[in-house]
Amino acid sequence: MSEREEKREQLASALMDFVYLCDEAEAVIADKDVTYTERADFSSVVDAVLPPLPVDKDSIQGTNLKQLESLVSRCSKCGLSEGRIHPVFGEGVVPARLMVIGEGPGAEEDASGRAFVGRAGKYLDKWLSSISMDRNTNVYIANIVKCRPPENRNPQSDEVQACIGYLKRQIQLIKPEIILLMGAVAAHSLLDVTDGVGKLRGRFYRYEGIPVLVTYHPAGVLRNPDYRRPVWEDLKKVAAYLNIQLPGRS
Ligand code: URA
Ligand code: SF4
Repeated sequence: MSEREEKREQLASALMDFVYLCDEAEAVIADKDVTYTERADFSSVVDAVLPPLPVDKDSIQGTNLKQLESLVSRCSKCGLSEGRIHPVFGEGVVPARLMVIGEGPGAEEDASGRAFVGRAGKYLDKWLSSISMDRNTNVYIANIVKCRPPENRNPQSDEVQACIGYLKRQIQLIKPEIILLMGAVAAHSLLDVTDGVGKLRGRFYRYEGIPVLVTYHPAGVLRNPDYRRPVWEDLKKVAAYLNIQLPGRS
């Protein structure tokens, strides 16, 4: 208990003692047995004398997932808030076995408020299903920035800096066994690295003790089929780490 809370309790208890004293005085004057007042509520008096310290309604620390989503829904910490229709918080299972992290909402995500529902999202769902996983069973899907960058440009570093605290709290709450970062923006924003995905993929990193793999972004793979094979290798690594048997293989 903080010093201030202790003082507030002492004050309430002193007021109660005074009421008991009055009960006793009244009994003496009336020459009858004392009847003590039931515990009274002094909170408004205590608040008037020593108001409770205000809780920071905008603080991310200590939030649960619902509170965090509510903070994001009314966030204007960066310029991306101006062009968005809906912030896209993320979705999936909590706790998740796997958390996949993309870059930021595209047009369909912005319109619907849901993560990875456009063409890249449908492709991502196929990737997950190839290792017997999906967002309704064991995966949580989120992005580095929660609001759509104009013309789907990469988020700028000031926008990432403004937003990343939400994702970090989300990771704490979702407690994934492994994280898959999709694309350079995700890798560079969460890990202390600057290389391209081609160099970063294929080995494990750690974020706050959680194993992390890097792979290409599904939108990039749709544009460049050469990335399909390396992505499949990366997905197999995820499945192996999680002890998931690949369908049709023993
Ligand atoms: N691309 C992303 O990085 N995230 C989405 O939610 C959709 C497309
Ligand atoms: Fe807030 Fe993130 Fe949206 Fe920027 S992108 S307004 S920091 S929720």
